Amino acid sequence: MRLLVELSLLTLVAASSSTGAGSSVTTPLGDFAPTKGSTCACKKLSCELGEVILPSSATYVVQAAENYWDVRADLSPACIFLPASADEVSKAVSIFKSCNAQFAVRGGGHMNYPGSNNIDGGVLLALEKLNNVIVKRDTIEVGPGLNWYDVYSALEPYGRAAIGGRLKTIGVPGLSLIGGFHYFNNKYGYAMDNVVSYDIVLGNASQITVNKSSHPDLFWALKGGANNYGIVTKFTLRTFDIPKVSTTIQVYNESGIPDFLTAVCDMAMLDDKDPIAAGMVATVQYNATTKVASASLLGVQEGVSRPPSQFANFSAIPATTRINNVTTMKQWATDLDSPKQMFRVMFSHKTMKPDADVLHSIYKTWKDAVDQIADIEGLYPTFVINIASASAARVARTNGVGNVWGLEEESHILWQFSTGWALAQDDLRVEAWSRQLAEHLHAINVKKGIASEFVYMGDAGEWQDPFAGFPKENVARMREIRSSYDPKGIFSRLNWGGFKLGI
Ligand SMILES: Cc1cc2nc3c(=O)[nH]c(=O)nc-3n(C[C@H](O)[C@H](O)[C@H](O)COP(=O)(O)OP(=O)(O)OC[C@H]3O[C@@H](n4cnc5c(N)ncnc54)[C@H](O)[C@@H]3O)c2cc1C
Repeated sequence: MRLLVELSLLTLVAASSSTGAGSSVTTPLGDFAPTKGSTCACKKLSCELGEVILPSSATYVVQAAENYWDVRADLSPACIFLPASADEVSKAVSIFKSCNAQFAVRGGGHMNYPGSNNIDGGVLLALEKLNNVIVKRDTIEVGPGLNWYDVYSALEPYGRAAIGGRLKTIGVPGLSLIGGFHYFNNKYGYAMDNVVSYDIVLGNASQITVNKSSHPDLFWALKGGANNYGIVTKFTLRTFDIPKVSTTIQVYNESGIPDFLTAVCDMAMLDDKDPIAAGMVATVQYNATTKVASASLLGVQEGVSRPPSQFANFSAIPATTRINNVTTMKQWATDLDSPKQMFRVMFSHKTMKPDADVLHSIYKTWKDAVDQIADIEGLYPTFVINIASASAARVARTNGVGNVWGLEEESHILWQFSTGWALAQDDLRVEAWSRQLAEHLHAINVKKGIASEFVYMGDAGEWQDPFAGFPKENVARMREIRSSYDPKGIFSRLNWGGFKLGI
């Protein structure tokens, strides 16, 4: 069991695109003067709602820096407020509006787009005190201060599971609002497809409940629309009867990588009408110093078939490690940690139709290109592959609600460069390298006719515009819905960070 835990951690550190060592480095926070708006808001929050955390507070560094996964997200807010109820979120929004104060909102703090969840000189609203959880017969009500481990833990005694994050410390709100890749998307759809109701504070500070029959336009827009509409204070998630899961951890050396990439494409192309829920984290790691590459699979399948039947193609590849187990979602997540504060990380991702030869060629080009930046301190390059299956898209196409992605019932491979490094001086160099490489390889796929313009916010770099890959009519509809629910532009003008719809 100990081996399992150690391996899981090692693999997950790679899968989470970190710099491998897992040690924590806190950069000194910058010295940003509060704006007129934030000075007004910090004062009012303190007078009307109680304690705000100021730069002089003992807990300021934890809140402004250490609660973030990517060191680049460590910024210097003028003050930090931790609302304890939806009413306090509403009052805070009203204060931001009246003071014209810029603000950021943090859930689990995992988004590595600097400024998406933190702010220099503005107000940070950190949601961790909104941590209520209520388990019902086939749903769970979850506060946005919780992470997916909290959800899986609350559901375990009932033998049920929700569709959420694959790592335990990812926040419920960020992942649910952008889509949500889980192991079981192929059967149950994405996390967003399984939110049955949202309680949300709008830009005018009103609180509404949004579901299929109440504000159905906003209900649709919240399914992938990110932080463009308001602050969600409660998610009600559908749950499923999944008392046990069958898991497999496999590690392959370099000679197994071609077969590994083929097995990933084979899995993407499976399109059962009645799928067995199964999915994975698939990664290739490359050490630019030793010039050694290896691949790893973390596979999870619903039920107790041991080994998990859907991973037979992977199990046929000679592996240096292969551990099969039957466990619960909570126990699996327990062993797969992602520390709160990692190094600097740049994501770049593109999408294509499953094609093992092309995927292999992308991997080889990436590996060769890594050698160009091998001198960067703390370099930790990972090639990550995710599957968006036809059956996952079918859920939204047949559930009477849909989502903003509007994906056709086709399978896709999301390929991603996830590059960790140590020093701020290399930020621009890593971004330029990663972006140019991704754009170059995508352009080749465009010529071949196998590229898709779909970009997932959870895997994208801040240089990417995921909305450009959504159907144009969906983006137009999302903007109309935004105009109707946030006519004053509170969630674009004052809360401007992250993947915003633009004008
Ligand atoms: C190590 C790692 C592993 C990952 N694994 C997966 C995975 O398995 N599957 C997957 O789909 N994605 C994965 N992701 C991507 C992840 O889903 C996103 O980064 C997601 O935004 C994280 O959610 P959070 O609550 O932790 O984020 P935060 O950084 O707190 O928030 C993300 C964005 O949402 C906004 N926001 C937060 N709370 C609210 C709210 N209540 N109302 C409105 N807006 C809000 C924030 O302002 C911010 O713009 C992973 C990311 C990392 C770093």
